[in-house]
Amino acid sequence: MDFRFTPEQEQFRDSVRRFAEKHLAAGARAEADGGQGGALIDAVIAIETVASVCPRSADVVQAGNFGPIRVLAEYGTPEQKQKYLKRLLAGESVISVGMTEPEAGSAVTDLQTAATPEGAGYRVNGSKIFTTHATHADVILTYVRFGPGVGGIGSVLIELKAPGVRFGKRSKFMSDEEWAQIYFENVFVPADMVVLKEGGFKKQIAGFNVERIGNAARSLALGRYAYDHAREWAMQRKQFGRLLCEFQGLQWKFAEMKMKLDAGQLLLYRAAANADRGFPSAEETAIAKAFCNQAGFDVANESLQVMGGLGYTQEELVEYCLRRCRGWMIAGGSIEILKNRIAESVFERSFPQRPGD
Ligand SMILES: Cc1cc2nc3c(=O)[nH]c(=O)nc-3n(C[C@H](O)[C@H](O)[C@H](O)COP(=O)(O)OP(=O)(O)OC[C@H]3O[C@@H](n4cnc5c(N)ncnc54)[C@H](O)[C@@H]3O)c2cc1C
Repeated sequence: MDFRFTPEQEQFRDSVRRFAEKHLAAGARAEADGGQGGALIDAVIAIETVASVCPRSADVVQAGNFGPIRVLAEYGTPEQKQKYLKRLLAGESVISVGMTEPEAGSAVTDLQTAATPEGAGYRVNGSKIFTTHATHADVILTYVRFGPGVGGIGSVLIELKAPGVRFGKRSKFMSDEEWAQIYFENVFVPADMVVLKEGGFKKQIAGFNVERIGNAARSLALGRYAYDHAREWAMQRKQFGRLLCEFQGLQWKFAEMKMKLDAGQLLLYRAAANADRGFPSAEETAIAKAFCNQAGFDVANESLQVMGGLGYTQEELVEYCLRRCRGWMIAGGSIEILKNRIAESVFERSFPQRPGD
């Protein structure tokens, strides 16, 4: 497979870099800003390029290209797209995805949030936790149960200002991002806010694999950002009268980091390039995400070590990269759950995780 970029992709990458350098570099230690992308491989290029200048802003490319926005673009009705997608794509609105519940984490199909038919719509009751951006979002793509079993799962759009939606205690992730439990108490959802009816779970997970690609891309991009900074540091910092890069103990760290970044890059491009012909394959996505999550974290961690005390401070974004990468090892399908998926491909059979299955 040829992973060289086309001339158009090279041009796109250069223009993203020029934009990031002009608008994002100076504020990289302060705040995230806006931005959009196109096809999946282009969006991966955009994340990598933006993150190389400003790791925080890579989140904006993720939010605008990989997450629930992609599910809405694929499965939403023309009216839903008109009402929500336009503003989301213009960067004027934020959407979150609510899958995880207190009793349904890795076992997401255990979710209990229920949509019960009533009049011209549904009453939704339940709760979601750990929902990224929810406290700033306008609308949440909410996984709900229309009926029993996996086949009973679908999704609805719920405006976060709708009557009956309530946030619990505000808390923070290790990344410093805010989250709060969301409660849905008799929330009325009109029928035209249904995105996928019962039976839609497989489609949703297919769409969610796109999110996983964005998650993997950010892990790798932030690992690379940390690596680039550690490399620069190793070429200027002297101890014992020698540059750090002249110590073999550190050279080997860089060799290992480089091997992990390059391997992750190939796995990521394979999954993203193939996905351009549709949603990415579950197996290639699982391999790319599990590898890039681990690689990004390991590389950020070793980069921090190479930078010594400075790396541990907030004068640099290396500690930020480490904290962010840690979360992606859990979010969007933990490394363990992805390895379970990979093992199913290896042995060409499923391994039910529940007792008695
Ligand atoms: C930074 C961050 C952002 C998130 N954003 C969102 C969001 O936007 N929307 C949303 O819905 N959710 C979000 N989540 C929640 C995330 O999807 C869940 O945390 C994740 O699915 C794991 O669920 P859990 O936390 O309940 O852990 P559990 O499911 O309780 O798992 C605990 C540990 O056991 C392991 N484990 C569980 N089952 C198995 C098994 N069968 N085999 C091997 N190991 C297993 C897990 O890998 C994990 O290490 C986010 C989480 C984080 C950390």
